[in-house]
Amino acid sequence: MANNRLRVTPLGGAGEVGRNMWVIEYDEEIILLDCGVMFPEAEMLGIDLVLPDITYLRDQQHKIKALLLTHGHEDHIGSTPHLIADLGFPPIYGTPLTIGMVSNKLKEHRLLDKVTLNRFQAGDTFTIGEHFTIEPFHVAHSIPDTVGFGVTTPAGLAVYLTDWKFDHTPVDGRPTDIAKITELGHRNPLVLITDCVRVESRGYTPSEATIGEAFDNIYATAPGRIIIATFASNISRVQQAIDSAEAYGRKVVLAGRSMENNSRIALDLGYLRAQPGTLVRPNEAGSYPDDQIAVVCTGSQGEPMAALARMANKDYTHVKIKQGDTVVVSATPIPGNEVSVSRVINNLFRLGAEVIYGSHAGVHVSGHAAQEELKMLLGMLRPEFVVPFHGDYRHLMLYRKMALGMGTMYKDEQVLVAENGSIMEFSRGFGKIVSKAPVGYVYVDGTTVGDVGNVVVRDRQMLARDGILMVVVGIDRATGGLVVGPDVVSRGFVYMRQSDDLIDATKEVVRNTLGGTNGQFNGDTEVDTNFVNRKIKDAVSEFLYARTKRRPMIIPVVMET
Ligand SMILES: [Zn+2]
Ligand SMILES: [Zn+2]
Repeated sequence: MANNRLRVTPLGGAGEVGRNMWVIEYDEEIILLDCGVMFPEAEMLGIDLVLPDITYLRDQQHKIKALLLTHGHEDHIGSTPHLIADLGFPPIYGTPLTIGMVSNKLKEHRLLDKVTLNRFQAGDTFTIGEHFTIEPFHVAHSIPDTVGFGVTTPAGLAVYLTDWKFDHTPVDGRPTDIAKITELGHRNPLVLITDCVRVESRGYTPSEATIGEAFDNIYATAPGRIIIATFASNISRVQQAIDSAEAYGRKVVLAGRSMENNSRIALDLGYLRAQPGTLVRPNEAGSYPDDQIAVVCTGSQGEPMAALARMANKDYTHVKIKQGDTVVVSATPIPGNEVSVSRVINNLFRLGAEVIYGSHAGVHVSGHAAQEELKMLLGMLRPEFVVPFHGDYRHLMLYRKMALGMGTMYKDEQVLVAENGSIMEFSRGFGKIVSKAPVGYVYVDGTTVGDVGNVVVRDRQMLARDGILMVVVGIDRATGGLVVGPDVVSRGFVYMRQSDDLIDATKEVVRNTLGGTNGQFNGDTEVDTNFVNRKIKDAVSEFLYARTKRRPMIIPVVMET
């Protein structure tokens, strides 16, 4: 690339929520912004995590100067241990809490000694490579130590500002750095890349402080134990649960592995505060009266192995749910998790608990800016071009509509609707999608990365819908004639014992099909099992569809004898 434009490409997080990752290029240098994971959608069966597709960077490793992280949430740091080797182990930059959280992940993957970690503070200025000057600035979000970045290049100033709100009374006492945003605005930013996930919500996102009031009300009236489920990475929420507990004389138990890990990191670094003696181990909870205990746990998304679901299933040793318990679900279900969250809530009610949940209970607010805040940011920064991301496609379109509605500030071509892989170029008076990088889904299934492709997921979808049917036959090596079977085995398609007719008819179809193969092979040529396979598959599939209107996966097993 020998032009003097800034090149900007999202590899994840544009037109979807999760796995955020941006490539910023100038001349022969690249910096990466964020490296997140996405939790799989319901139709991605058996998949644990989805990573950004870094194919675009494959031959450009030597150009990558740094990976800069905005904050410690999974959708911004979660892919780091999975991808850092393929990226050529670039140095990682983040605030102390973010570095604390990412280094914990790298340690679990035994990669910690391979990477240089650089801590910065909001308000610092530093350079990377020959072309990039980075200015991190503080923003309020649901985890402390979150920043946005000013990235100055010879082509102009880019501002990357995701996961923020104008919270004037945040839990950690550090509101969004409005002065810095205004100052960046005075420098005529070329492009703003910003979060738009709450563009559908009118007005302003309420302050985190409102949660503290809701918690205080619950703590003041709950007759027995209080159990609060939230994201393990929502450090601000954990802080509020601890603050209220201290105000109302309760001990706090942190339950769930990721809750314990994240809180430990935040406590060690001073981002989470608790008076000595407030925190007690799960096995000590039983030695205090119920009205002196608060449990803060994982499982707000209904995850089956997390602490809350295990409590709801009577499978959590130290907390057995009973009458008098008050359970607070302090999170909104991520789309796709509604069913599992409802199941957990039902079971908690069944066990006698009072459950407080849902958007009207006042126990959760978003960490993201709503419509008026998004407009105000545009007014303060006035970037020449704006690229919304961190939202589904409809959010991108609504953001564009919102920007175009702001008087004469923006014209159509100044708001770019980019999807994953859209390569954009910017310079004064120029901002366009110029080409497309290859992007797809990279799946993590158990502990393997990338072995499972779209084909595997499609197979799983097919199996889940219509089941599987195996046809086992033995054929004569020379003639191709049927000598053993056919046997038919099925799972998840029909109940075999009550489907004798269908199974017999299927066998008959196989016999007829292979009968037709007789003489096809006459000893001069070898039997082509692939061909026999294909014939069985086509014939059986067609027959079963005609009879049942379903398409189970057909697996012929052909043995030569
Ligand atoms: Zn995010
Ligand atoms: Zn976040």
